[in-house]
Amino acid sequence: MKKYDFIISGAGLVGCLAAIQLNKLGFKCCIIEKNSLENIDIPNNFSPLSLNYHTYLFLKKYGLWSDLSSSTYPINMLTLKSFNSLSRISFKANDINLDNLGYIIDKRVLLNFLRSKLEDSSVEFYQCETIDKVSGIDKEEITISFAKNLIMKSTYLIVSDGIDSKVKKLLNIGSKIIDYNQTSYIYNAKASFKPKSAVQIFDESGILAAIPYDDNQLSIILSLNNSFSQHIVNSNFKPNKDFIDKSFRFFAKNITNIKYVSQYKLKTSRAERVRLGNILLLGNTSQLLHPVGAQGYNLAVDNIDSMIKNLSSIDKDIKKASDIIESARQKSFQQIDFATNILGNSRLSSRALSWLSFQVLKCSQTLKNDFLRRIIGLNNIGYLSIGKKL
Ligand SMILES: Cc1cc2nc3c(=O)[nH]c(=O)nc-3n(C[C@H](O)[C@H](O)[C@H](O)COP(=O)(O)OP(=O)(O)OC[C@H]3O[C@@H](n4cnc5c(N)ncnc54)[C@H](O)[C@@H]3O)c2cc1C
Repeated sequence: MKKYDFIISGAGLVGCLAAIQLNKLGFKCCIIEKNSLENIDIPNNFSPLSLNYHTYLFLKKYGLWSDLSSSTYPINMLTLKSFNSLSRISFKANDINLDNLGYIIDKRVLLNFLRSKLEDSSVEFYQCETIDKVSGIDKEEITISFAKNLIMKSTYLIVSDGIDSKVKKLLNIGSKIIDYNQTSYIYNAKASFKPKSAVQIFDESGILAAIPYDDNQLSIILSLNNSFSQHIVNSNFKPNKDFIDKSFRFFAKNITNIKYVSQYKLKTSRAERVRLGNILLLGNTSQLLHPVGAQGYNLAVDNIDSMIKNLSSIDKDIKKASDIIESARQKSFQQIDFATNILGNSRLSSRALSWLSFQVLKCSQTLKNDFLRRIIGLNNIGYLSIGKKL
């Protein structure tokens, strides 16, 4: 019977990174994935993922950045706009002594890269999606049984098999579901704009973002309230060009070649717990977040970092790691709730509060930087593509 230090269920962006780093620490790992690890085809479009500064530092610290950097595009300015043009505020990398706030990469490029690193490592791979039973949760060894009478044992189990995790169901870990009644539509477009700058707009139609991946190409992400979608996006997912031009006119000119990439219903989930004995939930299995702060993967990387730090310490304490992960998660939830309930809400009281917050911040660079650090940087949880300098 095979025995491991770690079994990782799911070889997505999160499971791969966790397995690579645990393997580097010398742990014997096996990753279980329902699909093969072969390169994913990348059609002629860009599927954006914002990596914040902390994620960049993490990837650099673990020797993964140098091979990746040529596939990324830096962001050094972020503008937030709320409901009317008077409530607009820009955060610059220089404001917090950084060269860049973060980097944009195509999700599939990152996944192919991580999977290639996994194949180069001594992590064992087992292709299967039918874990039948997980037992021994309170014992020193966890036992995983598969349909084909195969049994594996492991000291720890990382569950990173996505939002519909079968293992999470087997463990009876429930989740809080939050339905924003919104749909995110992702487009690519050509345009003229200030290079390396991104924008997020809180509008009565929803939350809109433009994130460049080249000096003249950007991803437009429309997280639209479902009641507005039909007025803005037609049945072929084509967006209303006037709406796009009008919404982003202060940021980009000559927006052309708008191409549909993908869409997601914004029904998100937050697992009621991240740890059960020596089992740890990470990534989408633990929380699927609203894309407003681009925090999903960044939070997961921060969580992996906490896990690695605690497992490389003398006492190898997964409970301590999970406490830190839980606290980071809760802070992240608070930021997302603030962004969706206050900044992204068209109630008069919310509009007044966001207007006031923006005005207060505009009055003092110190307050602005403090605010920026508090909501985004200092606790390692980034807001959009911003992080802290270590
Ligand atoms: C619109 C949108 C925009 C986003 N933008 C950002 C952003 O800018 N920045 C950011 O940080 N995050 C962003 N995110 C979040 C980010 O995409 C996720 O955090 C990340 O993809 C989660 O990866 P994961 O590995 O946890 O899950 P997944 O990518 O879902 O991976 C799960 C893996 O498990 C495998 N699997 C599933 N079931 C089984 C099974 N039964 N057995 C074995 N294997 C199984 C799957 O095949 C897959 O490989 C965004 C998300 C959305 C929806």
